[in-house]
Amino acid sequence: MSEQKPRWSSVDQIAAEVLSCTRCVLSETRTRAVPGDGSSTTAVMFIGEGPGQNEDEQGLPFVGRAGKLLNSLLAEVPLQREDVYITNVVKCRPPGNRDPEPDEVAACLPYLQAQIELIDPRVIVTLGRHSMLRFYPQGKISNDHGRIIDIGGRVLLPVYHPAAALRNPRLNQTLREDMRRIPEAVRKSLLLRRPAEPGSKPEHRSALTESEEDVQPVAESSDTSATGSDTEAADQRDQMSLF
Ligand code: SF4
Repeated sequence: MSEQKPRWSSVDQIAAEVLSCTRCVLSETRTRAVPGDGSSTTAVMFIGEGPGQNEDEQGLPFVGRAGKLLNSLLAEVPLQREDVYITNVVKCRPPGNRDPEPDEVAACLPYLQAQIELIDPRVIVTLGRHSMLRFYPQGKISNDHGRIIDIGGRVLLPVYHPAAALRNPRLNQTLREDMRRIPEAVRKSLLLRRPAEPGSKPEHRSALTESEEDVQPVAESSDTSATGSDTEAADQRDQMSLF
């Protein structure tokens, strides 16, 4: 995917445009668009595939039974919803909860890309197989769930979708264990960033990658001592204050 220059200067601006968006046919059947919710300065961003019925009715992501499970798993990390940002690949509900069509994903992707660039999370947690494949096309959720993967300046942590865990109790424990890796994922993401110029924001390639060469497991070391400048040390303290 070619990197696109964001047209928006804030997450709120993106949300405002999403609410009235008619770029794809999903606008014809939605009740409310669901731009996303949470902290726009977070280190951890959750991305599902698309809104379901409850989300479509309320205009908020992950508010049904799957959302309640996600909240309880976040509390175990420990994190609160307001500590993270939660959104979906497509912002409007596909009818009958079908998978979004490729042209619908393509139409909506600039919003997600801009959200990632503006929020600049250290860790992207994908919820479910479909969301994982947007970032890690060669992945297999049964093999790759819970892995901490370098996607170019930040890390990906794919986990099962909470709705799948509700349907299959065996996945519930797996999802719980994978979610508990979030603090480790944040620590490992710190190894990926190099000292920045004072006052500047670290540069990233787009997190939405199509190249296998861009994706590698992060080294298992958790040593974050060799990262350098005061600026970065302050940045690390800021990010780790989540935990
Ligand atoms: S799914 Fe995305 S592109 Fe399609 S109408 Fe909704 S906000 Fe617009």
